[in-house]
Amino acid sequence: AKARGRGRVEVHDPQTTSTAADRLRLLGELRRGIAEGQLRLVFQPQVRLSDGRVTGAEALVRWQHPTRGLLPPAEFIDVAEQSGLVRALGAWVLEAAVRQAARWARDPRAATVDVSVNLSARQLTDPGLVAAVSAVLARHRLPPHLLVLEVTETALIADPDAATAALAALKDLGVGVSVDDFGTGYASLTYLQRFPVGELKIDRSFVMGLGQSDGDDGIVRACVQLAHAVGVRAVAEGVETEEQRRALVAMGCDTVQGYFFSRPVDADALQEWARERRG
Ligand code: C2E
Ligand code: CA
Ligand code: CA
Ligand code: CA
Repeated sequence: AKARGRGRVEVHDPQTTSTAADRLRLLGELRRGIAEGQLRLVFQPQVRLSDGRVTGAEALVRWQHPTRGLLPPAEFIDVAEQSGLVRALGAWVLEAAVRQAARWARDPRAATVDVSVNLSARQLTDPGLVAAVSAVLARHRLPPHLLVLEVTETALIADPDAATAALAALKDLGVGVSVDDFGTGYASLTYLQRFPVGELKIDRSFVMGLGQSDGDDGIVRACVQLAHAVGVRAVAEGVETEEQRRALVAMGCDTVQGYFFSRPVDADALQEWARERRG
């Protein structure tokens, strides 16, 4: 697989350039790593454009590997997803994110922010998902509206019936749902109307071209308008420049997230950053 992957489109996918033996070893290490507490969460602030306040934070997983250092999800999420280990990983992330959100909610000096958690496609269609979410909220006594689950457009349309049922149950629980990577997965307008979601998160690939490509400007503007037409918030991810921020303000985008504001940081740094902006 190593030789075949070289120089082809798959080079972006680290999985295809590694052998089955490599993947198996990684999997074993990850299973141990989860059990031994090697996973970490970092948080990236979400800023409301109308007043510049931090209203939320996206939890992003990292793996403190014993020899390879701090690994980003691109190094291990796919392997986890293909193997079913993503259930254990997803459960750890949910627990840790809700624990943190509850700590912030209780701390009178902390800015109250909702915490967004990424769900894999497998988690979304896992029949135990809703009970697991409900249990973790109860365990940490987190008000449900302070948890937002991010599901990709691709995961939604892979099994629209299962997705609709899961989303409806999550909505009943009171947790928020965000459609991640919006614009990349060919969700039809019919589905958009039928999925009970609270926000659309416009994919970074479109945000990147803002102010540089008329095409991308048009797509982002259309996504914002679409979100508002179906009564949900528009969030833009991957905002890296002031020019992009200004374009999003002009388009009426509600919330933004990206390196222009802050990289993902640890929980304490996120609160510090939020406090500074509050003045
Ligand atoms: P995503 O959900 O689209 O998350 C956004 C990714 O873009 C993050 O990468 C974030 O660090 C990065 N990012 C944020 N702002 C900027 C920016 O301004 N410019 C650029 N170039 N990048 C920016 P990260 O943390 O490496 O995560 C990559 C992907 O891994 C995520 O994409 C998500 O799909 C997945 N992932 C992360 N954490 C979890 C998790 O806990 N569970 C699951 N199932 N997937 C996760
Ligand atoms: Ca949010
Ligand atoms: Ca996300
Ligand atoms: Ca995304």
